Amino acid sequence: MRVYLDNASTTPLLPEVINKMNEILNDDFGNPSSIHSYGRRAKSIVENARKIVSKAINASIGEIFFTSSATESNNMVLKNAVDSLQIKKIISSPTEHHCVLHTLDYLVKNKNIEISYVHVDNQGNINLTELSKLLDASEGRTLVSIMHGNNEIGSMIDLIKVGELCRSHEAYFHCDTVQTVGKYNIDVQKSPISFLSGSAHKFHGPKGAGFVYINNENMIGPFIHGGSQERNMRAGTENVAGIAGLALALENSCANMQNHYDKIYKLRTSFKKLLVSEFDDIIFNGNQDNNFLAHILSVSFPPGPKADMLVLNLDIAGICASSGSACTAGIEEDSHVLQAINHPNNRKTIRFSFSPFNTEKELIYTIEQLKGIT
Ligand code: PLP
Repeated sequence: MRVYLDNASTTPLLPEVINKMNEILNDDFGNPSSIHSYGRRAKSIVENARKIVSKAINASIGEIFFTSSATESNNMVLKNAVDSLQIKKIISSPTEHHCVLHTLDYLVKNKNIEISYVHVDNQGNINLTELSKLLDASEGRTLVSIMHGNNEIGSMIDLIKVGELCRSHEAYFHCDTVQTVGKYNIDVQKSPISFLSGSAHKFHGPKGAGFVYINNENMIGPFIHGGSQERNMRAGTENVAGIAGLALALENSCANMQNHYDKIYKLRTSFKKLLVSEFDDIIFNGNQDNNFLAHILSVSFPPGPKADMLVLNLDIAGICASSGSACTAGIEEDSHVLQAINHPNNRKTIRFSFSPFNTEKELIYTIEQLKGIT
């Protein structure tokens, strides 16, 4: 039996998405910039996809731009907001994805931007009082970049609260919504968000297809220079099949949001119960009380001779999950997220992440295998 419990990393494609993409790759191979019929067909596929994505987050069509990934979307926002909106200060958190954190490092070194990191508590919750104080103290144009849901430990922010806080301080708000778009209701008319990013492969779409929402009031300059694709914002011939796959997958996720959430929540709850009943001295990382991503469960096992090999041995047993550590200079270290929440470094962390296509049977099998290797 093979069990895939690494859905925060990437998700299996929906069969209808594969079919749609195949159809386009076979029949609609035109270049959307061409004016002949093949070109016009390809263009209408891209524009229809834009309509679907804008509807999913209640944006206007002109506020959605397709990119190659959320990494690109986040780079685009952070680098170009600095240039186009004369940002002087950015406030972020230590638990952001590396595509945000490493871009911020670049901006400090190359653009002389001042960055402050708001602290997180031991559950990964952002300190909103500190965020408010940092905003009070900021002079000049400020951008806040804080993710909606953490990809390693699942802690979430209250999107409306953080958005309102930014708005009341006249700061721009960039939100990495990669782990939440299509899974949670995001309405840019209700939450004051200046920029947000999404990635198709996190919601059962293809890899290599992302998007960015840029509020009309804070439009920024082009990111990739060249042709006039994406209304001059992101040159390069469009990934037509990928964009169509992204839109169909997002449409499907939004249409099934509640039903998928209920299913995943149930899976997580019963997996957690099984873990607690079968294993001693385990810790669940991240917020477990409210405001957590239902599809992510980060578990730390006590130190022991077998702990180091846990993810590898799970893989040998056919179970795909993710480890919470990174190998730096030959030494296993807790990830930057686990370090930020003061996780004890001698414990081994595994992130299990679920999709609506997982089953209780798979979870029971996983527990059985885990019992044999811990
Ligand atoms: N942000 C978060 C929170 C993520 O989980 C990921 C992917 O793991 C990314 C950004 C990067 O997305 P992409 O794979 O589209 O570059």
